Amino acid sequence: MFIAALISLVIIRTTKMPLEISTYIFLMSALFGSVLPDADHKSTRVGKVIPLWLFFKHRTVTHSIIIILLMVLVTKINYYVGYGLFIGVSSHILSDLFTVNGCPFFYPLSKEKQRLGKIKTGGKDERKIVIIVGALLIILSGIYALDFVKYLGDRSYIN
Ligand SMILES: [Zn+2]
Repeated sequence: MFIAALISLVIIRTTKMPLEISTYIFLMSALFGSVLPDADHKSTRVGKVIPLWLFFKHRTVTHSIIIILLMVLVTKINYYVGYGLFIGVSSHILSDLFTVNGCPFFYPLSKEKQRLGKIKTGGKDERKIVIIVGALLIILSGIYALDFVKYLGDRSYIN
């Protein structure tokens, strides 16, 4: 979720998305997308709301390229929702690919799990990543707060 938030904020800033409702929809969709793949596990919060675990085994379809492509299709319905979900879901799968367990990225074509790293969930390395991403988020949020103050200042100048 932190990684999705960080990626989304970087995208919003670098593509100069306006401070409009569509940008917030993009951000919220990214945050939601970042937890969505784990709806395939009944002990997760998202799994209690959206019980995908009734239909799929843990770390199968919802952790594969299929769900990423599905989110690309959602952009055809609503661009900002689809784009946000795409960023969120992709960042989740990418993060899981770096864990010891990995993900069956090409499921159902191949059930073999791919791995890009050996990070243990809840381990020392994961904590380090959370601290780094958290620090970057705080810095970026600070930059955003300044942007917002400037935005409000510019608006009051026009009015
Ligand atoms: Zn997962």
